[in-house]
Amino acid sequence: MKEGYKGLGVLMDAPDGPNAAIREMLRKGHERGACDAILVPMKVPSGDSYMHVLVDDVEMLDRAAPISPVLTVQGARAVTSLTRRGDEGVCIAAVMRPCEAEAVIELRKLFQVDLEHITIITMDSPGTVPLQDFARDPEEGERVFAEALATWDDSAMRPICQTCEKSNSAVGDLHLGLRGVQTGKVLLIPQGEKGLEAIAKLGLTPDHPIDEWKQASDKAMARKRGTRKANHEDLRKRASGLSGLLDLLGACINCHNCMRVCPICYCKQCKFDSPELRNTSSDYLDRADRSGSLRMPSDMLLFHMGRMSHMVLSCVSCGACEDACPTGVPVAQLFSLVAHDAQERFEYMPGRSSEEKRPLVTFEFEEFSEVED
Ligand code: SF4
Ligand code: SF4
Ligand code: SF4
Repeated sequence: MKEGYKGLGVLMDAPDGPNAAIREMLRKGHERGACDAILVPMKVPSGDSYMHVLVDDVEMLDRAAPISPVLTVQGARAVTSLTRRGDEGVCIAAVMRPCEAEAVIELRKLFQVDLEHITIITMDSPGTVPLQDFARDPEEGERVFAEALATWDDSAMRPICQTCEKSNSAVGDLHLGLRGVQTGKVLLIPQGEKGLEAIAKLGLTPDHPIDEWKQASDKAMARKRGTRKANHEDLRKRASGLSGLLDLLGACINCHNCMRVCPICYCKQCKFDSPELRNTSSDYLDRADRSGSLRMPSDMLLFHMGRMSHMVLSCVSCGACEDACPTGVPVAQLFSLVAHDAQERFEYMPGRSSEEKRPLVTFEFEEFSEVED
């Protein structure tokens, strides 16, 4: 946690649930000059989806759903669009899940976002409903999500959320604690100077110990760590060897949706969409000739392995890629497994801190001194 965190938060009333309390806090913050605009998930007018919306008129906040049932667009992508031309002093409060905030922090290290005037507000995350399930039946999706938020039972949430250890991680400037907090309350936890300043502008003083929230969070994270270990062991077996990997990715139609929604895949021209990888018909025929046939579109495995090698040290396991996959490939789970192993080797956690350097831009004398067969 950042400096400024003193083990104290502000216990806010939330008689109508956490979303209403967060809306009220945002409204008050805007009125008191803590921010000029608010980036927050909001239900679309048709009522069957949610999008990040930049709100200038606080009256619009009535439709905001800070803790929304689905992650349609990774919030880090929205922050990139907002700040890509530089920041001209407009102060924005961005409400997002911890995995989105981690992606923002990772993108800052990659010089893709400017956070000078952005205040990030995160919250304990119950997970999100798989996007395709929600699209099929939004009403049922809302019901399932409301139950998960009330009980913290994540079994109907996305597989990646069931194993997510960052679902309570306080990586933003302000964090909203919900686990282990008494019913009808929300615990507002400041992180660092920006968080403390925002709390002061709200006219609040951190005076409530966060110990119970911390204990409940640690317990939940330990459970999720166990689930992740079991899932990874299972996936490692399934993805073992070339044939295992091909089976796991068998349904892939090479549409590259997973790459387009990934906050970390930010290259303007992706190598896998470039003319460089377009061959002539006779090249394809030669390849088909060698093994008798050629799956088209070709190079599916090359795409996944290439993308993995480019960004896996920065993968925040947000699951956006899997949500965007039209054929149900467990692509986030696979990337998360490889990311976990690679990041562990470098003792690196993407998005944990802006100050922590990315492994491939640092040099350690003692790094990788052992060689495996
Ligand atoms: S991946 Fe983690 S932080 Fe992101 S929505 Fe799921 S539980 Fe929340
Ligand atoms: S690869 Fe998938 S899980 Fe990893 S950061 Fe990108 S979208 Fe998120
Ligand atoms: S894994 Fe899914 S989203 Fe990615 S390229 Fe294959 S079919 Fe498309």
